[in-house]
Amino acid sequence: MLNVVIFGAPGSGKGTQSELIIKEFGLDHISTGEVLRAEIKNKTGLGMIADGYINKGHLVPDDLIIDMLAGVLDSKKNARGLIFDGFPRTIPQAEALKEMLNERATGIAAMLNLEVEEEELINRLLERGRRMGRSDDNPETIKSRLDEYHLKTAPLVEYYKKENLHHAIKGTGTVEAIYEQIKEILSSCRIS
Ligand code: AMP
Repeated sequence: MLNVVIFGAPGSGKGTQSELIIKEFGLDHISTGEVLRAEIKNKTGLGMIADGYINKGHLVPDDLIIDMLAGVLDSKKNARGLIFDGFPRTIPQAEALKEMLNERATGIAAMLNLEVEEEELINRLLERGRRMGRSDDNPETIKSRLDEYHLKTAPLVEYYKKENLHHAIKGTGTVEAIYEQIKEILSSCRIS
């Protein structure tokens, strides 16, 4: 399988680049944010709990996310590979992911870190809020999402550097130019 973590702050372009990767490499997409938004829409127990965290711009607790992800992984057994978008967001999530993939005799081939400056992130998120009406793309929630990112998610850069899986991607410029960097990396990845 070719399993990839697409990583970056909110607004770094993870969703946009995932779509291009999926099209070319035939991977299945796992976006924990999308799964949670569907749970909220369907008013499930998990959705009701997650809603409170998401609206405040806080991360949903690790145990809930890890359980949810295990279920999604089991439903994707026959995939050629997976792209993890918005997961892991904490060190415990990264450790759980490693273990879950190990148990399934596979692993992560690459972590792609989309690097974008803070000011650009805020502008992109505000613009997306205007265009798509995502309830957490408002100034107050954006601030706490970025705070959560710096506090809990950014340490994953060091984690994946130690695992020799980290690849820095310049996340500004045209969508195509960003994707070219990704394509080059994935084309030379070892598939487990
Ligand atoms: P996203 O669509 O990836 O930007 O996620 C939207 C929101 O869902 C985040 O701000 C978090 O509140 C929650 N969320 C998504 N993925 C995770 C995760 N891996 N861990 C904790 N919370 C998450």
